[in-house]
Amino acid sequence: MPELPEVETIRRTLATHLVGERLERVEVLHPHFLVGVAADRFARLYAGARVEELGRRGKYLIVRFAAGLPAWLVHLRMTGRLYVRETAPEPGDDPHLHLRARLAGGGWLLLRDVRKFARLYLLAAGPAGGGAEAGAFPLPPGWLRLGPDALGDELTPARLERAFAGRRAPVKALLLDQRLLAGLGNIYSDEALWRARLHPARAGGSLRPAEIRRLWAAIRSLLEEAIDWRGTTFSDYLDGEGFPGGFAIRLQAYGRAGQPCRRCGSRLESLRLGGRSATFCPRCQRRATTGDRVERPRTR
Ligand SMILES: [Zn+2]
Repeated sequence: MPELPEVETIRRTLATHLVGERLERVEVLHPHFLVGVAADRFARLYAGARVEELGRRGKYLIVRFAAGLPAWLVHLRMTGRLYVRETAPEPGDDPHLHLRARLAGGGWLLLRDVRKFARLYLLAAGPAGGGAEAGAFPLPPGWLRLGPDALGDELTPARLERAFAGRRAPVKALLLDQRLLAGLGNIYSDEALWRARLHPARAGGSLRPAEIRRLWAAIRSLLEEAIDWRGTTFSDYLDGEGFPGGFAIRLQAYGRAGQPCRRCGSRLESLRLGGRSATFCPRCQRRATTGDRVERPRTR
């Protein structure tokens, strides 16, 4: 499932092809990805539409159009792919192709999804999709309560500290809670905790300010590096031009249970927390709040 670095990479690659470009013709081949708008209305609405900007918030990709048209709010979920190509399959040739839009300058914008979980919502102009057309289209569940973007300026160590204060939930679960910070999923929450040397089952409220600052810095550096490597391709993710990301071989925790920690050599373990698995190093990521000693294990 694409997380923040993957969606950001898709945003950047699509932006180079789409900003200023016009959708000449829009064809909906499988309408179930559209939420709250009929396929024919959607196709009519966006025929001739000019793309103004590509944005992102958490794991949502936002395609903004000129002339006050509602923006597209796209969540790719498990296997959705939004990308541009020189040529497009003919309808019927690719059973997983959901949308094809002919670009005025040549080429196609395509939405393809094998497992059919991707969704496209319409976001009317105005704050948080409200404004004059508030209520015109259904918003994604949780959109209005979406927390600060994990890479945005709003997410400060102080804000993270407030979000975790008094929380008994494991820090791993809190990192996945999009209301507290938006953009992390299973991969980057494991990686951030490994970098910050924090045990995934630690209660959020038990983290000391210094540990939270360490976690915040780990999240930043991790996401920035992953974007530099154009994201992590584990199974399905491809960027907006159809290329895989290069960060998978740089993962330190996620998907490496049973393999040696690249920091201390201990065997990585995994545990289930609230229905999600967390992979961590039992030596580098001690459970006890022993301050700096967490970073310098006493036993070998
Ligand atoms: Zn280790």
